[in-house]
Amino acid sequence: METGRNADKHSMILDDFIRTLIGYEKIAVLGFNVEPDMYHEDEKVFVATVALNEEELYRCPECRQICGKYDSSGFVKRWRSLDLGKNKFFIECVYPRLLCAEHGVKKCRIPWAFPDSDYTQAFEVRVAYAAAKSPTSLVSREYRIQMGHCRQLRQTCATKHRSCREPIPQAEEDCH
Ligand SMILES: [Zn+2]
Repeated sequence: METGRNADKHSMILDDFIRTLIGYEKIAVLGFNVEPDMYHEDEKVFVATVALNEEELYRCPECRQICGKYDSSGFVKRWRSLDLGKNKFFIECVYPRLLCAEHGVKKCRIPWAFPDSDYTQAFEVRVAYAAAKSPTSLVSREYRIQMGHCRQLRQTCATKHRSCREPIPQAEEDCH
C-alpha cells in the first residue's frame, strides 16, 4: 500500500517536473528516459514522452480552431529543447495531421514549438539571441547545432516569435 502511494507521489512529481520544463500544462506525461545519443555513442540524452490532451490534438496552427483529424498515422516527432545540465533534452509527442476548413491539411499546433520546427521555442529564442551577439561558429559549438541551422534560427526567429516578450536584437555581422 505504502509502495503504491510512493509510486503515485513520484509519478506526480515527475509529471510536475516535465510540465514545468516544457512550460505547458495540457499534456499527459508518458515517460522520461535516458537514451544514448544517436550521433555520439558516449553521450546520453534525456527524452520526455508526452501526449497532448485530446482537445489540443487537432488544433490548427494558423487559426487555432479545433479541426477534424486528417489521417490516423501515429507519427511521432522529437523536438530538441534546451539542455539539461550537459545533456541534450528532447520532447517526444505524437504529431497528427488535421483538416482545417480554412487552411486545409496541416500538422497540429504544438504549443512548445513554431510550426515545422525541430526545436522548441525556448531553444530557438535562446539560439537566436546568442547568434545575434556572437559569431555563428561559436553559437553552433556551444548549442551543438549545425551552423546552417544556427543562421536560419537567427534569421527566422524574430519574425516567427511575434508574441516574444523581449525583442531579439539585430544581428551583428559575422566575422566569417
Ligand atoms: Zn485553420
